[in-house]
Amino acid sequence: MPDIELETYPPPDKRSRPDVPSIAFKSAGRKWAGAPIDQLIKDTIALVSQSNLSQWVHDLSAFHTRHTQSIYINQVATWLFDQFKSFGYTDIMLHQYSRNGYQLKNVVCTKYGTSNANQIMILCGHYDCIMEQPNDTNARAPGADDNATGIAVILELARILAHIDLKNTVQFVAFSGEEQGYWGSTAYADYIQSNHINLHHLINMDMVGYPPPNLAITVEQDTGNVVPDNNQLSQELAKVMAQLATDYTNLPVLIGEIYGSDYMPFEARGYVVIGVYDDGNNPNYHRSSDTPDTLNYAYMANVARIALATILHETAAWISVRDLAARCLGKFPPLSVRQDVLGDSHQISLRKRLEEILQSCS
Ligand SMILES: [Zn+2]
Repeated sequence: MPDIELETYPPPDKRSRPDVPSIAFKSAGRKWAGAPIDQLIKDTIALVSQSNLSQWVHDLSAFHTRHTQSIYINQVATWLFDQFKSFGYTDIMLHQYSRNGYQLKNVVCTKYGTSNANQIMILCGHYDCIMEQPNDTNARAPGADDNATGIAVILELARILAHIDLKNTVQFVAFSGEEQGYWGSTAYADYIQSNHINLHHLINMDMVGYPPPNLAITVEQDTGNVVPDNNQLSQELAKVMAQLATDYTNLPVLIGEIYGSDYMPFEARGYVVIGVYDDGNNPNYHRSSDTPDTLNYAYMANVARIALATILHETAAWISVRDLAARCLGKFPPLSVRQDVLGDSHQISLRKRLEEILQSCS
């Protein structure tokens, strides 16, 4: 496979913050309390398991290194492929690319939407890591916060969403080559663009387990960079995520700017991107001391809940017939079904399907 010829980026450094400081998000007050949407988000984010997150961080950190130029990198890709497969997904692609003579892979797991499958949302992060000597491909490099945490959140959300119908398509994407300068994400952004894929929103998770003392989470938005047209939609999505964080968790939210991670090649192509980042000034950053025992898993579970709430809010559109029926039959009081929250094809058959589900539950 010949090397792809794409734009180049320098190796990223999350310690070089933008000049503009992050600002505290001010909540607009809760909108959905008591509505079916609210109940669905609450029920679903309650499924986030802190012990799963911890397990996956430990598993990923147990690879001797996940350095992109090491012999281990494609073993990690295979491991990720197997995790997605174990959740029941059938459409998992190893997106292969070649860069600087290395044959590398991004892992792409697709969950197709039920009625608007052409519009996709990407939840992504990088699975590679480095340590003190960036070119040392064989030194121990656990890369726990950076970025086993982001990948663990992606796995946990993929696990939960495997059982929930969404209107739009969601892709769970794990990139290699981030630490060398976004190799994998640049290749995949090029793939998305070349294939005219309707990428609507992208959420990048890079370092989400080492919080600052006040346990704030930073939602990163686009305020400029290469393309101006995508700024406003990015800021709207960031606001949605910040509001959902305030509604469903107790984490304070800071609004910051995108920099130094895999959303940049997508931004440069005009896509709408945001990021989630702990901004905890981790002293173990890019060191062999970035180990699983230094992380806060309760915090990380809340970060996962925020990302999950955002995906549900943006893609459920809103409630699948199955979930509505389950709620009508389940532990909650009967809900009135609004036609405008159902896809067209669902409206006529709703009654019949409720009856089918009733039968299958009895
Ligand atoms: Zn990173």
